[in-house]
Amino acid sequence: MLPLGQPAGAAGRKVWTVRVKDPSDKLLSLEGVTKSYATGEGPVQVLAGVDLTLAAGESLALTGESGSGKSTLLHLAAGLDAADAGRIVVAGHDISQAGDAERARLRRGTVGLVFQQFNLIPSLDVAANLAFQSRLAGRHDPQWQAELAETLGLAACLHRYPEQLSGGQQQRVAIGRTLAARPRLVLADEPTGNLDEATGDAVMALFLRLVSQTGAGLLMVTHSARLAGRLQGRVQLSAGRVA
Ligand code: ADP
Ligand code: MG
Repeated sequence: MLPLGQPAGAAGRKVWTVRVKDPSDKLLSLEGVTKSYATGEGPVQVLAGVDLTLAAGESLALTGESGSGKSTLLHLAAGLDAADAGRIVVAGHDISQAGDAERARLRRGTVGLVFQQFNLIPSLDVAANLAFQSRLAGRHDPQWQAELAETLGLAACLHRYPEQLSGGQQQRVAIGRTLAARPRLVLADEPTGNLDEATGDAVMALFLRLVSQTGAGLLMVTHSARLAGRLQGRVQLSAGRVA
C-alpha cells in the first residue's frame, strides 16, 4: 500500500489502498470505435475505427492535428457521449453497452477527465471546485487537496470564483479537481495548453506521480513533443484512426 502525497501511517492521515500494478490489467480499451457528427452538410465522420488500449500504470500521449478527433475520443472514453459502433471497455465495464446510470457511476468513481474547456462550476469558489469530484467519488482528502493547491500555485486564490481567474489558473483548477479524486483512469485534454513551461512541467510531474503511486492509467492529449516524451508511449490520430 502506498499513500499518494503523504507518508503511510503518519498520525491522523488517511492511507489509501492502491491497486497492484499489473501490465495485463487493461484500464481502457477501444475496438473499432466509430463516431460521426451531423452537420448542415450531412454527417462528418471523425473516428473511423479506432483501436487503443491503456493498462493500469501506463501513460500515453494522444497526438494528432487539430480537428483529428482527440477530444471526441476522450469524451467517448469518459462515457460522456456514445460511439456509433465499436466497443469501449473501462475498468472491465463495457460502456458501449452500459446505461446512463452505469456510465454516470463510472464517471464519478473511476474516470477523471480534465476538459479542454475546463468546465469549472461558476457558482463555486476554487476550493469548492477542487473538492467537487473527490466528494462525489467519496474520496475527499483535505490534505491531498491542500498539497495539490500548493503545487498548482492556487493556495492564494482558494476563495476566488472561476470568472476571477486567468485561463492558466482555471486550467490548474481543472487539473487539481481531477487529481484530487485520484481516478484510476485519467483522461486529460491538453492540460498544459495555457501554462508556462515551468508550470507545465510541475503539472506533468503531478500526473506522473499519480500514475506511479496509484497505478492509474493516463491518456493525455498534448501538442508538446517535450511533454509527450515524458510519457511511456504515444498514439497518433490521423484520418480517424490510430496511425
Ligand atoms: P480535436 O480535439 O482533435 O481538435 P475534436 O474531437 O474536437 O478534434 O473534433 C473533431 C471534429 O469533429 C472537428 O471537425 C469538429 O469540428 C467536429 N466536432 C466535434 N464536436 C462536434 C459536435 N458536437 N458537432 C459537430 N461536429 C463536431
Ligand atoms: Mg480537442
